[in-house]
Order: sequence, then C-alpha cells, then structure tokens
Amino acid sequence: MPVTAAYRPDPRFQALGPDFADVVRPAAFPACKPRYLNLRAAATVGLEALTEAEWKAHFWAFEPLPRNQDQALAMRYHGHQFRVYNPDLGDGRGFLFAQLREAGSDRLLDLGTKGSGQTPWSRSGDGRLTLKGGLREVLATTMLEALGVPTSRSFALYETGEALERNDEPSPTRAAVLTRLSFSHIRFGTFQRFAALDRRDLIEVLLRHVLETYFPDLLDAPNPGAALLDAVVHRSARLTAGWMTAGFVHGVLNTDNMNINGESFDYGPWRFLPRNDPNFVAAYFDHGGLYSFGRQPEAVFWNLRQLAGALTLVGEAQPLVDALNLFGGAYRAELARAMADRLGLRRASWDEDVDLANAAFRALAEGGEPLRWEPFFFDWFCGAASEGRALAGPRAQLYSGEHFTAFRELIARREPERPERLSHPYFGRHEPQEMLIDEVEALWAAIADRDDWTPFEAKLSAVEEARQAWDLSP
Ligand code: AMP
Ligand code: MG
Repeated sequence: MPVTAAYRPDPRFQALGPDFADVVRPAAFPACKPRYLNLRAAATVGLEALTEAEWKAHFWAFEPLPRNQDQALAMRYHGHQFRVYNPDLGDGRGFLFAQLREAGSDRLLDLGTKGSGQTPWSRSGDGRLTLKGGLREVLATTMLEALGVPTSRSFALYETGEALERNDEPSPTRAAVLTRLSFSHIRFGTFQRFAALDRRDLIEVLLRHVLETYFPDLLDAPNPGAALLDAVVHRSARLTAGWMTAGFVHGVLNTDNMNINGESFDYGPWRFLPRNDPNFVAAYFDHGGLYSFGRQPEAVFWNLRQLAGALTLVGEAQPLVDALNLFGGAYRAELARAMADRLGLRRASWDEDVDLANAAFRALAEGGEPLRWEPFFFDWFCGAASEGRALAGPRAQLYSGEHFTAFRELIARREPERPERLSHPYFGRHEPQEMLIDEVEALWAAIADRDDWTPFEAKLSAVEEARQAWDLSP
C-alpha cells in the first residue's frame, strides 16, 4: 500500500461511540468512472502515491484506509433549517470514512462522503448524490480555495452508473459519489442535538473532544464552553468575511451546515455573484431571501446563537453572551482584512482597512449592472499598480464615477502586497476567472449532452492558474 511518510492516520471520532454515530455499510455501485481526483489535496495527507486501483478501492468501494477508522460512521446531528428545528437530520447520504493529519499544519482532517448510500438518517431519501451535484461541489470548492476562503476540499468524485430521480434536475439523472477532505464534520447541530435530547453529559463529552482535538490551547480555560464559543465566533467571522469578499452565496446556511472550525462545506444551490447585489439569492427554495448574499453575516450570527443556546446546558449564560457579542466586531475586522487581501493591498490599520472595504463596496455599487464582481477585483489587483491595466481594459469607462474616484484616490495611498504577482500570465489575460451560473450550466451540459469532460477539466485548470496568480492563503 503506497502511502507515504506523510500519511498519519488518527481516527479519533470513532472512540466517541454509538451516541455520536451509527456504523453503516457503503452502497455497492454498478459502475466506477473516476471523474475527479485531487492529487494536490492527496499530497497534503500522504495519499498521493495511491495507484488507480487503490483510489478505487478506498474512494469508490470505501475499503478502510490502513490503520484508520475500521467502519464507516454516519454522524448524528440535528439542526435549524430555515430557522425551523429539525430533529430528523444526520448523515443521510454520507459518512465519516477516515481521519488523518495534514502535513505541515498537523490539523486533524476528515475524509467524509456524500452519496455513499442510505443510513438510518436517510428518511425517504435514496442516499445518493447526482453527478451534477458532485460536479457543482468540485467547482465551488476549487474556486473558494483559490480565493483563500476556508473550505472543505473535494477529494475524489466517481460516477457510479446509477440513474436517479430528482425533482430539481431533468430525470433520470446520472449519479456519483464524492469524498471530501474537511477540517472536521462536527456541526453546530451536533451540539444542538444533545441539547434537544437534554443530554448535558454528552455535551460535556463532545465539548471535551472538540477542545482536545481542535482547540488544545483552550483545555484549561476556566469556562470551556464560552472559550469554545469565542473561538467559533472568530472562525465563523473570518469565514463569513471570506464569502463576502469572494462574492459567494452559500445558499443553505442551516445550523447543520455550519462547521465548528469555521470551514465552509456542503455545497448545494450555491452561486457566485454576477455583480454586487445584497439581495442576491442562491437557492430556488429560499423564497424569503433568508440566506441572500447581504444577509449571510446575520444568518451566521443567528446560527451562533443556537450553538450558544446548546452550550448553556454546560455553562453560565453570561460568558456565552459575551462571546456572542464579539461577532459583530470580529466580522467587521475580518471583512476589512479580507478586502485588503482580495485587492492585493498590504493590510494596514483597522481604520484604514475599514475605509478601504467601504470604498470598494461603494465603488462596486456605483458600477451597477455593467460592472461584474470578479472583473472589478481583477482590474484593481494590487491597487494603483494595476491602474494602467484597468484603464486600458474593457471596463475603463466604468471607472470614472464619484465613488470610483474616491476608491482610486484611496488605493493610490496604499502599499501593494507582493505586486510581483501581477507579472503572472493570469493578469495578462483579457478576462478573469468567474464561476457564474451560466458557465456552470454549460460545463454540465457538455457532460450531460455528449459526455464531454474537456470544458470541465479546462475550467479546473484555469481556476488553478488563478489560484497560483492570487497566491492567497486561507
Ligand atoms: P443537505 O441539504 O445536503 O445539507 O442535507 C440535509 C439533510 O438531508 C441531511 O440530513 C442529509 O443527509 C439529508 N439528505 C439530503 N439528500 C439526501 C438523499 N438523497 N438521501 C438521503 N438523505 C439525504
Ligand atoms: Mg448538510
């Protein structure tokens, strides 16, 4: 088994036992067509040397990895969906497959599945993932990672040869099984479930597990629940700021889709913004716009309040309220920093970065309908160092309004961050990489209509080029 020295299995979740997860059997699929294998991610966990047959054995047939978790575990959780409490959730079409250390960071990562078969939590569902859904998750994670947003990474995607019935895709539709690499799969809803069941003892066990595994520095905190909440508040603030500068709308910000490590995951009806629009809604079933672009910070804060509510079972309320109240300030600070990073400018004082973020949003708003989101950031990367390029480019006439003038004056006073990045061929291209719905649909149509995977693969390469050009780290 050619795992490398960087492969360090550390299956810790399974020791929590049957109150936390159910042993399940992976589905047996009729066909195995590899559609996406993330070799760069594999290298971060020592799995890059697997043969094709080994990839298939582990990420299609789900034979356990060596010295790793010996059985597949469907995780138990509850959650608020669109603000309604649902006690019937849990991994209905996935499971935790393995846990292993990331080279360099030493973080404990999960390999978890989506579309791997039914579980006790499937309700009336088939436990499957559509190929289109798998493709969309690969595209979202690739783009978000390139933009420096903390996200799960898509690890492997196999088409399985099954035909699925769905009411939101022309059916029958093709099926797939996805494995993702995540910085934990413990959700706000994992805590909520024990609170709903009034299992204070199990919240204590979960809290201790989370602190030992992900926040060892907080183990000796006088108030462990509030210390954890404080950390989750800050990580969630950073994540939200990442979405808001990436122009990303997650679409389903339910508490079962919120990871305690502040990593974005579980991509369904996501969209990237075509242009700045706070009211932009991603999910066709989000009729009230609860999870629209501009309401994401509020949605995350509401979710944090539910986590705090669960933690009141194991600690006093006031320290939890104090931790919650840090969210607004933390979010604004992260947004300001994220905007400086996104524009390729050196981070400055809090005030200067807030001014920059405000000026950028005003300029984007002034650009209106014709100014697309991604081209704005492409044209002005590294600020004044790009001015010649921006004003010679196809959008030059959009950059002359009052707020643009203010924005340009402001960035002229700011230091660029690593302006040598502008010499990357990416910035010599006519147009930047976007990930808008029409393109996503076209990538899928090539596959659905003629089984042509070349546009999808070309898109992944193009986003990889952008990732290298931006060179942002999460
Ligand atoms: P999601 O919208 O993917 O976050 O899923 C919400 C809940 O529905 C989770 O408990 C999922 O496991 C479950 N679920 C979604 N799709 C299916 C399916 N096709 N079969 C079984 N369970 C599903
Ligand atoms: Mg989910």
